[in-house]
Amino acid sequence: MTAIVPIQPGTLSLAAMHLRGGGLVAMPTETVYGLACNAANPDAVVRLYEAKGRPRFNPLIAHVANMEMAEQEAVFSDQAREIAAKFWPGPLTLVLPVAKTGTVSDIARAGLDTIALRMPAHPGARALIETFGKPLVAPSANRSGHVSPTTAQHVKEDLDGKVDLILDGGPCERGIESTIVSFVGERPVLLRAGALETPALEAALGASLIAREEADG
Ligand code: AMP
Ligand code: MG
Repeated sequence: MTAIVPIQPGTLSLAAMHLRGGGLVAMPTETVYGLACNAANPDAVVRLYEAKGRPRFNPLIAHVANMEMAEQEAVFSDQAREIAAKFWPGPLTLVLPVAKTGTVSDIARAGLDTIALRMPAHPGARALIETFGKPLVAPSANRSGHVSPTTAQHVKEDLDGKVDLILDGGPCERGIESTIVSFVGERPVLLRAGALETPALEAALGASLIAREEADG
């Protein structure tokens, strides 16, 4: 039986203790509930893939609490930094080259030399990352193929016994996954449409975003 607890200083410390021990903690974000673990611990990441039944070739998004943490993990172009300054914290994931100082394990990135990063807007998610002090990978807290959870109770129904603790931050605002944009090539590429609307991004970029299909073709 996995406990559902409200987010408070005491439960954040307890959650961070589970994370340091290689455990899994469900946390609210402004998109959906995430299943979080220490991004730097390959054993914890394997446990996470297994709890979800998610194939290991599907890379995870690393969640950061501030720009210092982000810049340690990834190489930001001026344009990527501008977009982060405008839309973070928020439901936008940036795919960037991995920095030499990066700490996120290979397995979390599915062996790629790029990394997907996001700074969540939900204060509970940021509080957990700050308390833990390092990036957390956090795909949606559901078994692969099931609906993404927007309440702590949904997480429990899908992952009871497979997650060490569920932090309850109330229902998620959006229930839609983050928008993903790659800044790895010469032009930004929209990898996944999501909670941050494409026109807002295009206005900030001053150009239309090419979709993945166009970039490939
Ligand atoms: P989610 O399914 O919401 O956990 O989001 C994970 C998705 O982010 C993956 O399925 C990929 O589409 C994308 N992603 C994560 N890391 C990378 C990466 N390094 N390069 C490209 N896409 C990535
Ligand atoms: Mg999902």
